Amino acid sequence: MNCPYCSNTTSRVTNKRGSPEGVRRRRECLKCKKRYTTYEKIDKGEIWVIKKDGTRQIFQIDKIKVGVERAFEKRPVSKEEIKKTLDEIEEQIRKKGKREIRSSIIGELVMKKIKKLDNIAYIRFASVYKEFKDVQDFKKEIKDL
Ligand SMILES: [Zn+2]
Repeated sequence: MNCPYCSNTTSRVTNKRGSPEGVRRRRECLKCKKRYTTYEKIDKGEIWVIKKDGTRQIFQIDKIKVGVERAFEKRPVSKEEIKKTLDEIEEQIRKKGKREIRSSIIGELVMKKIKKLDNIAYIRFASVYKEFKDVQDFKKEIKDL
């Protein structure tokens, strides 16, 4: 990034502001000390997850990973299988080619994948994800398996 005044390439970021469209940075040129603003659009690869309460965050498989690994704790499913499943989930989400995706869609996809591997892990994940209100909900879910 060149300084628009002296073309110097080194600068100091004095302020940074992010939005779903990009990141705006206030910079100070280290040579001429003039200030300028740069604007970087978010990479094409970014996918925004829209949560139930309307807030957004950048999709990261690592966020799903924690919950999935917890669900498979002490279950007879290898780490490789879990990793492969997470890769598949990420690939399917990216394949949709959307810039925004509802968290509920991701949740359903993850549950579908887990269900194929292990019923206990599925129940564990679903009970956290679906926030079962009472025992009836839970029983219904088990009956549907
Ligand atoms: Zn400069």
